[in-house]
Order: sequence, then C-alpha cells, then structure tokens
Amino acid sequence: MRTIAVLGATGSIGASALDVIARHPDRLRADVLVAGSNVEALLALCRAHRPRHAAVADASGYAALRDGLLDAGLDTEPHAGADAICELAAGDACDTVVAAIVGAAGLPSTLAAARAGKRLLLANKESLVLAGELLMRAARDGGATIVPIDSEHNAIFQCLPDAAARAGLARITLTASGGPFRGWGRDALGPVTPEQAVAHPKWSMGPKISVDSATLMNKGLEVIEAHHLFGVERARIDVLVHPQSLVHSLVAFRDGSTLAQLGLPDMRTALAVGFGWPERLDSGVSVLDLLAEGGRLEFEAPDLQAFPCLGLAFDALEAGGSAPAVLNAANEVAVSAFLQRRVGFLAIPRLVEAALSRCTGAAADSLDALHHADAAARRHVEREIAQMSPSR
Ligand code: NAD
Ligand code: MG
Repeated sequence: MRTIAVLGATGSIGASALDVIARHPDRLRADVLVAGSNVEALLALCRAHRPRHAAVADASGYAALRDGLLDAGLDTEPHAGADAICELAAGDACDTVVAAIVGAAGLPSTLAAARAGKRLLLANKESLVLAGELLMRAARDGGATIVPIDSEHNAIFQCLPDAAARAGLARITLTASGGPFRGWGRDALGPVTPEQAVAHPKWSMGPKISVDSATLMNKGLEVIEAHHLFGVERARIDVLVHPQSLVHSLVAFRDGSTLAQLGLPDMRTALAVGFGWPERLDSGVSVLDLLAEGGRLEFEAPDLQAFPCLGLAFDALEAGGSAPAVLNAANEVAVSAFLQRRVGFLAIPRLVEAALSRCTGAAADSLDALHHADAAARRHVEREIAQMSPSR
C-alpha cells in the first residue's frame, strides 16, 4: 500500500491526485491532506477520503479544522502551520508526497520530503526554480525519487527511463499551448482582464499557473525546471508552441531519434505515472484518439516580442545565482497584483524585468541566500506597484 500525503489537496492538482488515488483503494491511500487556508474545502475532502492527518497552513484555521473533524465523527488528527506540514511531509505517515502547493510557499515541505527520501511527485515547479540545486541535492542525499508532475517534464521523464537513455540525450523540446492569447500582438495585450487570462484553451488549472501560461512565464519556469530535473543546459532546451496540447514534450537522442509522449491534456495521466512508475495505473483519462482530436498536430515558434516573460526566464537561467529566485518572486507578486486588478497584464513582464535588472548575480549556494533574494525581490516589486497608477 502506498501511503500518500497530498500537499495542496484543495487545489487543481490536489483534486486530480485524489481522483486517481480513489480509483485504487487496494494500492493507494491518501493518509495526509494539506491545504493553505480553505478549511471548509479541506473538511469536505476529509469526509470523502478519511485521511489519518489533515493540516491547514494558516494557523488561524486550526480550531475550525479540529471542530469540523469532530463534528464529522472522523478520527483524522488536525494540524496547523508550516512546520507541522514539513513534519508530516517528512514523517512516517506517508511514503509518497504529492508536492502541489502553489508558489515558493511549497519549498519547505518539498525540501523536507526530498531530505526524508520520499517518492516525490513534484508539481510545485516554483521550488525548483527558486532552489533547484539545493532541492536536487537534497533528493540525492536523502534517496528520494522525484517524478515530475508537470505534463512536459513527466513526458520527458517517460522518454528517459534509465541512465543509458539519459547518456544518449541530445536535446529537449518543451511544448507550450501558447495560452489564451496565442497569436495576439503585444499592443492587444494591454487591456486583457484576469478572467480572459485564466481562461486557458486546453488545461484547467489554478489561477496563478493559468496567468503564467498566458504570459508564457510558465514555459520559462519550465525551462529552468527541466534544467534542474534532467541536468540539461539552456542551449539544449527548445520551446515549441503546439496549440493542440497533445504532444507533451520531445526528447532527441544523439542517434537522430526523437521520442515524444502524447496524451489528452489531463494531469491525472502524469499523476498515475507518479504513483505507479514503472507500472502503469488506470487514471480515468481516455486513450488518445488523434482523429477525434482533429487529426492535426501543429507546431510554431514562440513569439518572444509579445510574450517577453519567456526570454526573461532564459536570461535568468543564463545569469544563474539568485536570478531565477528573483524572477520567480517578482513574478509571483506581479501575478497576484494582476489577479487583484492592481496592475495590468503588461506590467507583469515589466515588473519582472525591473527586478532582474537590480539582481546582483550573488551566489545562491544556501537556502538563506535564496530566501534573502526572494524577499528582497518581493519587497522591490511591491514598492514599484504601490507607486504605479491603477491598471498600468
Ligand atoms: P491551485 O491554486 O489550484 O492550488 C494550490 C493549492 O496550494 C491549494 O490547495 C492551496 O490551499 C494550497 N496552498 C496555497 N498556499 C499554501 C501554503 N502557504 N501552504 C500550504 N498550502 C498552500 O494550484 P494548482 O493549479 O493545483 O497548482 C499547484 C502547483 O502545481 C503549482 O506549483 C503549479 O505550477 C503546479 N502545476 C499545476 C498544473 C495544473 O494543471 N494545475 C500543471 C503543472 C504544474
Ligand atoms: Mg506544464
């Protein structure tokens, strides 16, 4: 029996993970459920999945969680706070951790699971962007197995099953849907609303990653993520827009072969790979019928003029040091401000670029240094936003 902690259980990835888990009661059990602040949603999940532990990051939610569990007649143990979440991720209650908290807030628990040698289903890409080297080292030292739960990286993972395949790797191509504004010029993007930006044409996801997909920052974060996961430098990572979102990524080998993984755009496939690997489990996702999906696979180059965030991420990866941490932090603050209608869509790349231009290129060899860079970038972007007139 695989015992699983779902961190970010109330989110989009959390829901997909719990759906796959519930299909395999003989093999998979959700023993730990963790949410940010939505106690009602967490309680509903506890009633459905009866975990041994439930935790809410926001400590003010503890009493409501405890009382709600009692009222429901559940013997689920309540917990609250970031430290409790790290202890659960590292402790004996689980052998497998789905890291699906959004943003840099996911780093401590992801690191704790890596150090403790868990099977780590890693959706929280921001933790790799912020602290990729430290996280990969922690996983190696702790004996953790990382299975990437980003459709592109999961595709690459499937195409690189062993050390021999990795040794023959020549290039990686990450595919991108292009987001809701594919084909739009930069000028047309100024007035777009949060509602338009989160309306992704192919994937149903949380609000932050949906905006990242609309700016193409998501693909930029994924380039950095691929660099750390697969040890491939920037010059060997390409990005190709593929509007059908059926080819999830491609791997080229030195002998001229290219392998790709295809499937419907549904994260349950990647999660089933994570739970079962190297076995294949039912995920609830139908097998791909290419004719029913329109019979066409198209590819085009990304438009770096209209979507400068992708180029900024390339630059941050090239610069190294704390630059990816600054990129990620600035982007989190800018996206949050956009979702709150405090700034316009085009302010996102502007704010990220301004934060990166102040980046000193300081080494990022400790968690302290990274936290410092992250916090400084957040403060800087908040200050910039405070000085801007609304919707600039
Ligand atoms: P979401 O917004 O739907 O869910 C986020 C979850 O994180 C919620 O359960 C929330 O309660 C929890 N959370 C937020 N702050 C927290 C905190 N401080 N402590 C503990 N929990 C906290 O987001 P999502 O779309 O499920 O994405 C989750 C992660 O997976 C992101 O890093 C995203 O980039 C990555 N990812 C998502 C998808 C997708 O299809 N949704 C695909 C690839 C990667
Ligand atoms: Mg992805």
